[in-house]
Amino acid sequence: MFLEKAAALRAEADRAERPDVSPWAPREEARGGQEELEAPVPSPRRAAVSMQEGSSLVKAKDFHFPALANGLDFLRSAVELLARQGGPEPRDLKCAVLHLHAAAEVLFKARLEMHQPALVWANTGKFDETKHKAGKYRSCGAEKAIERLNENVGLAVETVLDPEDEDLVALGQLRNRLTHFGGSDTFGAVQARTLPVLTLLMYFLRFDVLPHVEDPGEAWTAEQEMDEIRGHLQHITAFVAQRKSEIADQLRGHEYVTVPCRSCGLYAVVLDGGAVDLTCHFCWQSYGSGVEAAWEYIGESRHITIKDGGQDFDSCSVCGDSAVAPVNTAAAPDTISYICFSCGSGHAGVCDYCQQAGDLAFTVADMGEDMCEDCYAYRLAKF
Ligand SMILES: [Zn+2]
Ligand SMILES: [Zn+2]
Ligand SMILES: [Zn+2]
Repeated sequence: MFLEKAAALRAEADRAERPDVSPWAPREEARGGQEELEAPVPSPRRAAVSMQEGSSLVKAKDFHFPALANGLDFLRSAVELLARQGGPEPRDLKCAVLHLHAAAEVLFKARLEMHQPALVWANTGKFDETKHKAGKYRSCGAEKAIERLNENVGLAVETVLDPEDEDLVALGQLRNRLTHFGGSDTFGAVQARTLPVLTLLMYFLRFDVLPHVEDPGEAWTAEQEMDEIRGHLQHITAFVAQRKSEIADQLRGHEYVTVPCRSCGLYAVVLDGGAVDLTCHFCWQSYGSGVEAAWEYIGESRHITIKDGGQDFDSCSVCGDSAVAPVNTAAAPDTISYICFSCGSGHAGVCDYCQQAGDLAFTVADMGEDMCEDCYAYRLAKF
């Protein structure tokens, strides 16, 4: 039964997705100033129509806000795929991410619609009730929806929704990677990336959506659906917690050289300075070693970046490799540390005169520039 539903959702998601640059695809900005389009990209209404065939939940005739049912359906599909017994297949992971992304966007818009339907339109000034009911309008993107929720609707104190939210942006980037480039993110990485967004959406539903559902039947059905979702969510939470405890010993004592993984987002990549491949302890994402790992870590190609006039990494005063990157570490997540991906050495900073990372002799106060001991000695000799 669920497989049919998942297939319908999958087909809808596949049709709906378009290559985007921004993780949240602010469609209205991309075509700013145009008239409303007749064939909108996914919106609550559009999803509602297609999902009526696939979901018994949406079939209920007394539903006042189909968008809410759709959002919950996408959310449920995402958690069911992620919590699948025996572990999800790569295709499940891709669908789970697409569905979670769709769930976030649809649920944000569901709340906007409850408050004032025009807020769902990309151009609110052009709101037309007839077109709205027919689904013939271009809806705002998720980023804009979050802005409007904050500015026009107001959120419960328990809910913190920010268009720049690290977890939401990371989910959008993961969706783009999986949609357009295939992506090789592992089961663990997807679980770790999606869990914070799942949790955030459950908070949003609990404190900002359900209290505003006026129809008791609709509220009851939504509560039932959330109970189901919560059950699956517990499995995902338990998996992430277990993996974290499994690797805790391996990470202990290395906090000053442990950086967040690009794939799962957790502080689990230890730059221990060995010649071995750098691998995320949590999700097993491999980064290679040395200079190669530094480039892999930022997701760029050294060859292309330098050919296009970009800069190389700063060089290391200990091993000589150009592999020193400014990173956050588990020991100091809020400050920048300069660590060499080749040898694991931590440096005080980068000399603004020779671009080498190492111990700095001093900072030129007026200019705010740092100078290393070598450059200082050289200048002193000339003086
Ligand atoms: Zn990882
Ligand atoms: Zn080094
Ligand atoms: Zn220098």
